[in-house]
Amino acid sequence: MKETFPELRQEPCTKRWVIISPRRARRPHEFQKEEEKSSLPEWEASCPFCPGNEDQTPPEVFSRWGENGWLIRVVPNKFPALSSDFNEVEIRGTDPFVSVPGVGVHEVVIESPKHNLTWGNMGKEQMEQIIDCFLSRYRLLREDKRLKYICIFRNHGEKAGTSLIHPHSQIIATPIVPEQLRNEIEEARRYYDDRLRCAFCDVSKREAEFKERVVLESQHFIAFTPFASRMPFEIWILPKRHNASFDLMYDEEAKDLADVIEKVFGALLKGLDDPHYNVVFHSAPLRDSCEDYYHWHIEILPRITIQAGFELGTGIYINTTPPEEAAAKLRQFL
Ligand SMILES: [Zn+2]
Ligand SMILES: [Zn+2]
Repeated sequence: MKETFPELRQEPCTKRWVIISPRRARRPHEFQKEEEKSSLPEWEASCPFCPGNEDQTPPEVFSRWGENGWLIRVVPNKFPALSSDFNEVEIRGTDPFVSVPGVGVHEVVIESPKHNLTWGNMGKEQMEQIIDCFLSRYRLLREDKRLKYICIFRNHGEKAGTSLIHPHSQIIATPIVPEQLRNEIEEARRYYDDRLRCAFCDVSKREAEFKERVVLESQHFIAFTPFASRMPFEIWILPKRHNASFDLMYDEEAKDLADVIEKVFGALLKGLDDPHYNVVFHSAPLRDSCEDYYHWHIEILPRITIQAGFELGTGIYINTTPPEEAAAKLRQFL
């Protein structure tokens, strides 16, 4: 690789700037956690998500069963960030101080009856159950006209903000469109206005040509480390078919996605020794007409380095691992 770093790079889809500065780096092998991983049991008596402890969660709103019990459950979050108790969503407050009642939905997807599994080692079939569950919940929640946006996300490990080990992800539906999404959509619209092409389609096609940042390509998806990765080993998973909204995925694509997720997270698990990470699904706001220029996708943000004052104050991330290096390393563990 040419020694051209440090370098400021701009993400073409969002116009977000990032500093790629490997000289500040700890080498990738040093990212592995220092402490010895103790192996977890398959079942843990004190875990509220383990089978037998179903009474410790609010009553489930979705479940799928196999021969030996439930395979997946969705329960309302016991400590929800938002509540579905309000009927009206109206702007309150005195200009310029605006507020809206905290209406929304906060659900927990308990992804497996087994305590010690995670994405990357639970198998393709279980991953298919999870994607199918996300789609079911999304398609149901989108009917609620009070809701404007549905965010599916997964926090893995303490550094990613979770306290429970049992494999789970969360769904939060909000009565407003998050400002970060608005910006992303607005940039995508500008790009489309200038070129009559989708920015995300353009980026994924170029990544497929260049190959150096591609982690994995399947029939329907491409996983790559973005040109302007904010964090070491940031990964995006994009559907190849242009589609703004997650819930408009075909069954065949959902199956393929389960396989891609299992492989990509398997590589993270093996290559980086189970790093802490956040996963966020980005999809069009509900009943929004951005289908020509927005493109749903998944962003994976490993929490290997800590974002501090400069990142918080400017929104410019300093990334110590060039994405080309990250992709090369992940490909070794597929
Ligand atoms: Zn458990
Ligand atoms: Zn597109």
